[in-house]
Amino acid sequence: MPESTRPTIPIEPPLPGRAFALYARHLPGFEARLQQAVQTLTQAAHAHAGRIVQATSLGAEDMVITDLIVRHRLPVAVALIDTGRLHPQTLALRAQAEAHWGLTMEVWQPDAAALHAFESEHGAEPMYRSIALRQACCQLRKVEPLQRLLHGRSAWITGLRRQQSAHRADVPLQEHDEAGRLKVNPLAAWDWADVWHYLQQHRVPYNPLHDAFMPSIGCAPCTRPIAVGEDFRAGRWWWEDDTRRECGLHLSTHAA
Ligand code: SF4
Repeated sequence: MPESTRPTIPIEPPLPGRAFALYARHLPGFEARLQQAVQTLTQAAHAHAGRIVQATSLGAEDMVITDLIVRHRLPVAVALIDTGRLHPQTLALRAQAEAHWGLTMEVWQPDAAALHAFESEHGAEPMYRSIALRQACCQLRKVEPLQRLLHGRSAWITGLRRQQSAHRADVPLQEHDEAGRLKVNPLAAWDWADVWHYLQQHRVPYNPLHDAFMPSIGCAPCTRPIAVGEDFRAGRWWWEDDTRRECGLHLSTHAA
């Protein structure tokens, strides 16, 4: 889709608390799933102390995980990839979250020279023109910073859940990435309702865009609200036909 014809997708003003009303439920088995997540996190944190990091997008799942890390005083660093195209609400949440938990997040950004060269050649928003250019943007703004973030670390923690998409249906609690690092997915078995039940119970801050029908939040040019009945990740790269839309951070194991 040429940049000039890209449709504007309106974002409704967030209605505070709407996400709780829409999603939070106390489902059977929640306590067991919570205990499993805590045990998984605790074991990994102590086995990899000083070499383990949570890669957070500040999405709802990641807010649960950071809260568990802080609540259980686990020796885990928390790192955010600031792609340079995040929503202002996401950037504001970082400051709010740091104040809430009394922690300082690592912030990783794209390589400035590589980004300048890419934008000089392809423009500021080439992602709409082809899947290849969109993936190149994700590689530059997300995957490469993630690789630097993980360098020297032996384990990382993600907010992947099996319910998020068909291509994540087999996400295990623990696996190994292509580099052999332990990849921990403590919420693999959680329902979306569990996530919101936890956030509500523990008064954890969250991105107000979740109150505007955006369950999965990425970069601003590539995220839109979803309609009732749409797939959880339908708002990500919605102009692409390919149903296996991923940014590359988790491609090797769950969508390739
Ligand atoms: S999600 Fe969009 S803006 Fe963000 S890195 Fe990928 S293509 Fe670029």
